[in-house]
Amino acid sequence: MLDGYEMTVGLEVHAQLDTNTKIFCGCKNEFGAEPNNHTCPICLGLPGTLPVLNEKAVEYIIKAGLALNCEIATFSKFDRKNYFYADLPKAYQISQFDLPFCENGEVIIQPEGEDEMKVGITRIHLEEDAGKLNHAGSDISSANSSLVDYNRVGTPLIEIVSEPDIHSPEQAIAYLKKLKSIIEYIGVSDCDMSQGSMRADVNISVAPVGSDELGTRTELKNMNSFKAIEKALRYEPRRQIKVLESGGEIIQGTLTWDDEASKTRAMRSKEEAHDYRYFPEPDLVPVIVDESWVEEIKSTLPELPDVRQERYVTEFGIPEYDAGVITADREMADFFEAVVSEYDDAKTASNWMMGDVSKLLNEEGISISEAKFAPEDLAKMLNLMDEGTISSKIAKTVFEEMFATGKDPDTIVEEKGLKQISDTSELEDIIDQVLEENQSALEDYRGGNKNVFGFFIGQTMKATRGKANPGVVNKILREKLEG
Ligand SMILES: [Zn+2]
Repeated sequence: MLDGYEMTVGLEVHAQLDTNTKIFCGCKNEFGAEPNNHTCPICLGLPGTLPVLNEKAVEYIIKAGLALNCEIATFSKFDRKNYFYADLPKAYQISQFDLPFCENGEVIIQPEGEDEMKVGITRIHLEEDAGKLNHAGSDISSANSSLVDYNRVGTPLIEIVSEPDIHSPEQAIAYLKKLKSIIEYIGVSDCDMSQGSMRADVNISVAPVGSDELGTRTELKNMNSFKAIEKALRYEPRRQIKVLESGGEIIQGTLTWDDEASKTRAMRSKEEAHDYRYFPEPDLVPVIVDESWVEEIKSTLPELPDVRQERYVTEFGIPEYDAGVITADREMADFFEAVVSEYDDAKTASNWMMGDVSKLLNEEGISISEAKFAPEDLAKMLNLMDEGTISSKIAKTVFEEMFATGKDPDTIVEEKGLKQISDTSELEDIIDQVLEENQSALEDYRGGNKNVFGFFIGQTMKATRGKANPGVVNKILREKLEG
């Protein structure tokens, strides 16, 4: 696909941990507060203050490490990463360098159109987030000004670093989606990309196929959209190949993705890049992680998406694909299980979850937990359909109403008079009328044009506003036309 070249992608995924308070102080860890309201002398880095490690943050990184099949370090420490920027009041970030909490993990992914594969995880470390600069468009009238919000400073952050196993945009996206799914399952982060609680640094290099060495890499920082990452991964390797093919050299550095122009632009080269001068954080003692604590945390892990997917195939008999789509989102999977506890046909239930339910949720931009209807309502509606009380076509109408109002499906069917007409004599009268009103079509049919049959069905459904039982209509029509 890349004419003689292979791309290698490295991903550093940051996820903000959902602790109540920040990592080294008692400030609230909360998105969306008034700027600079969740700050104190510690997270503002005032002289004379000392950090105190939040135990919950350590528990959460260990939980993430276990869910991602990592080895958990029994001895771990923090280091200072030094850089000077307005979003970082201390002028250093407390992070981890050589002794992170988790190492040597892996996840199984299923890239679109490719075979299932493993992606190695080099390490997961714990650090504090920086503040947020709001450039142009702020309420200071000049577009050249920037405002700084320190609420985010000290938010606990895990950074998950992948091995160079990823070689296509499909693999990168499958990996990111899998990480997101697992982290959401274990409940340590909400992974809301639009709020920046999950974001990725993406580094990209190309090298001739079969080469032992990786090419010089470029990096895109803080990407928070799967779509943009995918587009960048289609664009950047081709740009690099073009440079190499024309005898040029790839300059290692940071790029930015210009979504409007659909291309990468250079931001800074390595010469200008920071030397972080890591050194051990003197204000925090190393952390010794007790094995029994690790075991205790392990016992709190929920059933993870891979296991759940397998279970859906064996327990509910739905295809692996369906099981994969539904279990990728924990809330969807919980909802599905509640539906099938009251409705027997799991395949029909999964079709609805992946089809009409997902479609309306996407249109509204909400998650299943925010929907107005309950799993019991969907189960009830599907049962009405299977019993023949409503047709499958009318079921869609009932569902839309249920989605919009949260009303009980029985009530909707009653109020809107949507009950299916299966009564033979009633349908016979309607069909007689349809045939009478469409004499020329009837002649066509009798003249050998059998396709007109569908037309009569359509006219009958129309005359009953979709309420006729299609099976019964079909049978009566056959009798009348051929019998
Ligand atoms: Zn604070």
